[in-house]
Amino acid sequence: AVSIALFTRDLRVHDNPVLAAAAGDDQCIPLFVLDDAILNGPFNRPNRAAFLVDSLRDLDQGLARAGGRLVVRRGRLIDEVLTLVREHSARSVHVAADVSAFARRREDALREALDRENVDLHVHECSITAVPPGSLTPSGGGKDHFAVFTPYFRRWSEVTQRAVIRPPRRLSLPALRAGGLPAVEEICAGERSPHLAAGGEGAGRRLLTRWVNRDVREYEHRHDDLAGDGTSRLSPHLHFGTVSVTELLDRTGSASSGAQAFTRQLAWRDFHHQVLAARPECATRDYRPRGDRWRRSDRDFTAWREGRTGFPIVDAAMRQLADEGWMHNRARLIVASFLTKTLYLDWRLGARHFADLLVDADTANNQMNWQWSAGTGTDTRPNRILNPLRQAERYDPGGDYVRKYVPELSGIPGGAVHEPWKLPRHELQDTGYPARIVDLRGGAERFKDAREESKTSR
Ligand code: FAD
Repeated sequence: AVSIALFTRDLRVHDNPVLAAAAGDDQCIPLFVLDDAILNGPFNRPNRAAFLVDSLRDLDQGLARAGGRLVVRRGRLIDEVLTLVREHSARSVHVAADVSAFARRREDALREALDRENVDLHVHECSITAVPPGSLTPSGGGKDHFAVFTPYFRRWSEVTQRAVIRPPRRLSLPALRAGGLPAVEEICAGERSPHLAAGGEGAGRRLLTRWVNRDVREYEHRHDDLAGDGTSRLSPHLHFGTVSVTELLDRTGSASSGAQAFTRQLAWRDFHHQVLAARPECATRDYRPRGDRWRRSDRDFTAWREGRTGFPIVDAAMRQLADEGWMHNRARLIVASFLTKTLYLDWRLGARHFADLLVDADTANNQMNWQWSAGTGTDTRPNRILNPLRQAERYDPGGDYVRKYVPELSGIPGGAVHEPWKLPRHELQDTGYPARIVDLRGGAERFKDAREESKTSR
């Protein structure tokens, strides 16, 4: 029989349950559809398109090593799958389970269409997350989900184990037109960030190996050091599935305190996925509404987006995002708190901008982290405000992170770079660096008052 391995965001040959299951049939068609619904939607952005193109090319090469090829089609996903099913009398289609409302609708529509053709749809869990969303619940049953991370993590730690699946040794393809690998411009024209990381399983595996063999040991002490850049940078690979989270966990182990701290971060990823799976509407709606009447200010939002708020740590972070399509986690926390609390602007604006540029942006991690930062999500201290100056003192004490991304300030040595307003006026003017757009204490009071007011009026 012929089966189809429908790749979505699991673009790898190692540890891929979808590919392994389909490869078990006599003939297997590895398929990727450049889906019109995604290509014509707001999430099709240049940075992610570049990573996708790298990843498709690499996947094709990975499949070729087993005698296969990647078949790439463009159009409506359901139509393209059905066409191949009919042309090759395929008996089953395999795909990874995913959590967003879009992915759920796609899965339902696919099932319905394939049902009519008497073709089985096999949806594989554990392809995208380590633990299937919905499989752990506080009460042990029903449609419940964990709203607090720590008890989730305890349960998650008990169950995250699964053997890593080897890449298929031999793939047999029916005679068909394979290839069709797209160029970036065919997917999304527009300017890309100048310093994007390369995509693809090969690049992902090299990063993974270096990380688990060497750098992860230092993670506990280095992960918050903005200039030290001591995190794995695996997030785009986890988003596109060019690295398997199960294999990553397996190879990370738990020997060092660094490995344990890193494992905890991977659990955060699963945690947000299970929240979104249970509450898909929270991609746009508040998970815990606080009655916010967000301010509107194009001036403030533009200054934040362009990295011109006058707060060097915030501006460095926003410029790192524009430059690399990636931002350090500590920096994401700082700029998200700044936008939603100090400026009191709607978290959806920030999430939208992140989704425009981040290579790793996905609905679960981006939206739920934004909500966490805005205090409308799962943070158990929803009204805490991160003071950017305190954060800078702790996580960029020497000022190197700021000097790297804010060239106007690169001549100011040490931690003084975080407070350019203390320079003599003419020196500050010479730098061309903007003045502060908000008074930190005033912003904090405005936020606290707004939350108090909405509490009493609810
Ligand atoms: P590492 O520190 O090496 O962590 C390893 C992996 O753990 C990451 O690759 C990621 O998959 C996972 N992880 C770590 N922290 C988190 C977290 N807080 N939530 C979920 N998973 C986590 N991450 C995304 O993958 N996509 C997003 O769109 C995204 N948006 C974010 C928005 C905001 C406002 C904030 C505060 C965080 C966001 N994160 C997002 C989480 C986190 O910042 C990134 O995963 C991390 O910076 C990626 O870098 P890394 O791979 O070097 O991380």
